[in-house]
Amino acid sequence: MYKLIQEIFGGFIVTLKHAFRPRDTIQYPEQRKARSERFRGRIVLTKDPDGQERCVSCYLCSSVCPVDCIDIQGTEDENERRYPAKFDINFSRCILCGLCEEACPTLAIQLTQDYEFCSTNREKLLYHKEDLLIDGTGKHPDYSFYHHAGVPIKGKAIGDNPDEQKPVDVYTNLP
Ligand code: SF4
Ligand code: SF4
Repeated sequence: MYKLIQEIFGGFIVTLKHAFRPRDTIQYPEQRKARSERFRGRIVLTKDPDGQERCVSCYLCSSVCPVDCIDIQGTEDENERRYPAKFDINFSRCILCGLCEEACPTLAIQLTQDYEFCSTNREKLLYHKEDLLIDGTGKHPDYSFYHHAGVPIKGKAIGDNPDEQKPVDVYTNLP
């Protein structure tokens, strides 16, 4: 009997303690909790500071994706820049792990803070390139792959940019 009374009052005390604590509940969507800088939400494809698509359709992101939800078809434009003619992400499978972002050599694919894109219709979760490509640089405002990577394109040879090294003439290494 004594134990029962002790348990009932113990429960009351816990309830009372919580009744006067600040509330964790928020009135979503009017109120929103702050998210961490490293939060991984909806994926976008970004452009470089020159306004050109960053993605060079190297397939690294789709290769590393653990759930195989990225579908790309790469091609080349008249300036010999590679770009994806098709870039689909199936968000009904994506687990927002961020591995695609880590693998991307051009910083094209980036995970954002947006998490409000759920749907009960799976077809709506298949995002095409026009849904993914944004008109901005995202988290890396200054980076341009072609300014650093030493990849030649029309009008730019290897080593033309200050950050690139001139190609080595292998014959100069011969004994
Ligand atoms: S976040 Fe992860 S699961 Fe989603 S597309 Fe990128 S690699 Fe695939
Ligand atoms: S988003 Fe990045 S990793 Fe994926 S294909 Fe384009 S350049 Fe390669």
